[in-house]
Amino acid sequence: MLLARSQTIDLHAHTRYSDGALGVDELLQHASEHGVMTLAITDHDSIGAHRELATRQASLPCEVITGLEISTQFGNREIHIVGLNVDIANSTLNEFVAGQQSYRRERLMAFANKLEQIGHTGIVDAVSALSAEAVTRTHLAQILVQRGIVPDANRAFKRYIGRKARAYVKAQWPSIEQAVAVIQAAGGVAVLAHPGRYQLSRKQLTELLEYFAAMGGNGVELSYPNIDPQFARWITEKALNLGLKGSQGADFHDPRWQWVKPGYFPDLPQAITPVWQDFASLSTR
Ligand code: AMP
Ligand code: MN
Ligand code: MN
Ligand code: MN
Repeated sequence: MLLARSQTIDLHAHTRYSDGALGVDELLQHASEHGVMTLAITDHDSIGAHRELATRQASLPCEVITGLEISTQFGNREIHIVGLNVDIANSTLNEFVAGQQSYRRERLMAFANKLEQIGHTGIVDAVSALSAEAVTRTHLAQILVQRGIVPDANRAFKRYIGRKARAYVKAQWPSIEQAVAVIQAAGGVAVLAHPGRYQLSRKQLTELLEYFAAMGGNGVELSYPNIDPQFARWITEKALNLGLKGSQGADFHDPRWQWVKPGYFPDLPQAITPVWQDFASLSTR
């Protein structure tokens, strides 16, 4: 069974403006080399990549859709809402991302303080020195690896900074309702990111989807690397029943993560309307 194949449209990717390993040009080049013709750059709580691109005249290796990935709170879970096709000049959106970015610095510093209390020194200074516009736990995991505290990022999350780990700091992200409102105020569509990655039961996921739809959410990611085919069928059915559209994306961060390549994920199920249906640039495909 061939699950993943190269798709020309990938609507979820990160750059160094958040926790991606590549700069904007490197990402576009990399995506293009993997067959992607249209890429949404969706950094965590940042539209920096799109601000950078807006200053350019040169032609790009692939078409770019504006976007971002907003961290929100749903009970004690951190749920990610991708905003696509947003107007990056919108003032509500710009104020919102500025707030998220300063909260991200505060929160990462709280993690750093907790790690120092456990006995690991130098973390506060390393976090202060981070230069990304939106700092994330991925950066903190890298610091823990660099300092030899853990052998790899996975272990950093498991032992220290994951939801059930000892240095975890509970987040206070805005609500899903707020994220949807900001995205739509900027003319974009709101998409529930990678629904299979929250460790929620089907009952909890049903509640999440119903709430997201009631708040005016537009779509759900139904195709991404390693999505379980049976889960994909289940969630597609839910999305159809709630009138939600479908989105797809690799959530690419780093070329060294060999199991995630831009454009490599299964086809979006036929029955669902793609979220990009109304995007001017893509309406003819
Ligand atoms: P933050 O937004 O600061 O909470 O950081 C979340 C980011 O950390 C996610 O977007 C992932 O890129 C990364 N992440 C979360 N869990 C793991 C994990 N178990 N292993 C590696 N990276 C992870
Ligand atoms: Mn990330
Ligand atoms: Mn995410
Ligand atoms: Mn992402």
